[in-house]
Amino acid sequence: MTLVPLPAFADNYIWMLHDGTHAIVVDPGDAQPVFDALAREALQLAAILVTHHHPDHTGGVAALHAATGATVFGPARERIPEPFTPLAQGDVADALGLRFEVIDIPGHTAGHIAFFLPAGASTGAPLLFCGDTLFSGGCGRLFEGTPAQMLASLDALAALPDDARVCCGHEYTLANLRFALAVEPDNVELTPYIAQCEALRARGQPTLPSSLATERRINPFLRSREATVLRAVCAHAGLPADAQEPDVFAALRQWKNDFR
Ligand code: ZN
Ligand code: FE
Repeated sequence: MTLVPLPAFADNYIWMLHDGTHAIVVDPGDAQPVFDALAREALQLAAILVTHHHPDHTGGVAALHAATGATVFGPARERIPEPFTPLAQGDVADALGLRFEVIDIPGHTAGHIAFFLPAGASTGAPLLFCGDTLFSGGCGRLFEGTPAQMLASLDALAALPDDARVCCGHEYTLANLRFALAVEPDNVELTPYIAQCEALRARGQPTLPSSLATERRINPFLRSREATVLRAVCAHAGLPADAQEPDVFAALRQWKNDFR
């Protein structure tokens, strides 16, 4: 199995997994990059996985389904183009002989789901397709969920194995890392990771997939209980040192929203 990020729009990735004959795509916001990749590699589309309802993740679903007949799997609690198999926590999406485990991760949207593929002989290290919930160095905006929900969703993702490859929906890494450095200027993991990501971008390459081990070291939104992050957020937002975890997380997310 080969994993390929297909760039779409300004900064989206449509993730494609294929075996040389059949393919799966995740969050095709635009059909054209997928049609191009299918033609280039002479692949047949078998399945489409959708993490949440936003148009930049679903805009290509109808055209791809109509042209290929691929099975569509999506979030049970959201409206995406019909027909699709609705999935929620604990369900499994079967495609190309692979079993993608569904995890509910509300916060960015109310019914957002992630697809987790455990390590396997044909696919290697675990794969996590997390849409707009966990980004490298950041997390999605809270459009429909509460800070407590997003924190719980990120906790659920952070509980997955260290070597899980994080395949998220956007190339936001460098901007996220500038913010991460403002929150944790003394985090020694950040500078080398930033240099590595800048080098990749300079060559026009994706910074993704990241790994959960990396995210736990550099992503302030997975580190909101670390003393360094806690201290910085409380100082920035004027919160008491004993503030509740969701309030600290909310202040961290607000800091990022306002960060330029
Ligand atoms: Zn989104
Ligand atoms: Fe998006």
